[in-house]
Amino acid sequence: MQSIKKYWLFTSILIAIIALFITYTVKPALFDFILKPSNRTIYERSFKDNPEKLERWNNLLSIAAKDQVTINKSTSEHVVTTFQKPFTASYLIDLQLGEVLVSTIASKSSWILEARNLSGDLLQDAQLKNDTLVLNYTPNKDIKIRIILQAKLETESQTEFKIYTAPQYDFPVAGKGNSAIQSFWGASRGGGSRKHEGNDVFAPKGHPVVAITYGTVSSIRNRGLGGKQVWVKDYDNGYLHYYAHLDDWIVNEGDMVWSGDTLGYVGNTGNAKNTPPHLHFGIYKNGSAVDPKPFIWKTQVPENTISLPQLNNPLANGFAANLRTEPSSSSDILQDVKTAPVSIIGNTGNWYHVRTTTGLSGYMHKSVLVEQ
Ligand SMILES: [Zn+2]
Repeated sequence: MQSIKKYWLFTSILIAIIALFITYTVKPALFDFILKPSNRTIYERSFKDNPEKLERWNNLLSIAAKDQVTINKSTSEHVVTTFQKPFTASYLIDLQLGEVLVSTIASKSSWILEARNLSGDLLQDAQLKNDTLVLNYTPNKDIKIRIILQAKLETESQTEFKIYTAPQYDFPVAGKGNSAIQSFWGASRGGGSRKHEGNDVFAPKGHPVVAITYGTVSSIRNRGLGGKQVWVKDYDNGYLHYYAHLDDWIVNEGDMVWSGDTLGYVGNTGNAKNTPPHLHFGIYKNGSAVDPKPFIWKTQVPENTISLPQLNNPLANGFAANLRTEPSSSSDILQDVKTAPVSIIGNTGNWYHVRTTTGLSGYMHKSVLVEQ
């Protein structure tokens, strides 16, 4: 009797597994809320009965995945995709710990936008927010990543594409910004015996020092080099924030604080007693100090103000028709294209983003491209 029960239980479970498997094969979208597939995976389902289209789509990606185009902190590019020439390109960018990568493209559903590591693994997929596809990626170490932008096939669009970085936190002194930081990470201290493990933010004595994010006041001390000091733990990210040389504090240990809450006031306690009042601000990760500048350094959203004419049959033709890694004449040369047709896929400032007939992508100055 017992063995018959076991038999039926086993058979029922097996049937349930087979039923789930068949359902997944026929209608994978039903499982999206659990499996959370990438936007690319969802889009590729539309090629289910068209392997040639899938191959074309994947070929475009494998060409772009070798691009050596490099973003120096930020770019705003006018990008173009057409039925005949679907846009696909990738961009390399170096991120520092403390910077958040932001990439946006104003378009409802024509694009796939992803951050990948240099091995090609997906780090972060973009999300649709108010008709804009937004990619946000916060690294947990200094890292070079590849941003991939690929237009869906059979779409036509001309739009602005942006890549930039933003600080992970707000600024620690109320109403102040980058110019108030007047001593940086690594500066010599103690007559060369040690290095500066923070940033000094100058403001008048008594100016409010504020929390840069949500956290808990983990300790308050009055001792040593830092003098009057407040430590705040950011449990979400595992960092300790150190606010030192305070004239005084107005929080207690264990208080929860939100970004912008006043913790205390700028002063010159501790070893700052003979210097102008300033906040010494530091960030510690696993007990070691890290450079706080990228965490708080304010950046601007880039704007592309120049719109270059779209050439119908562009020909590279100049004294030195150089294809470069960045839209700048001081960047690395990928190739002297000499006289050859190219495809224009975008422009930023006075530079066209082009792809050669051999698949190489880079920037060419407008002066070296003519109509055939
Ligand atoms: Zn300092």
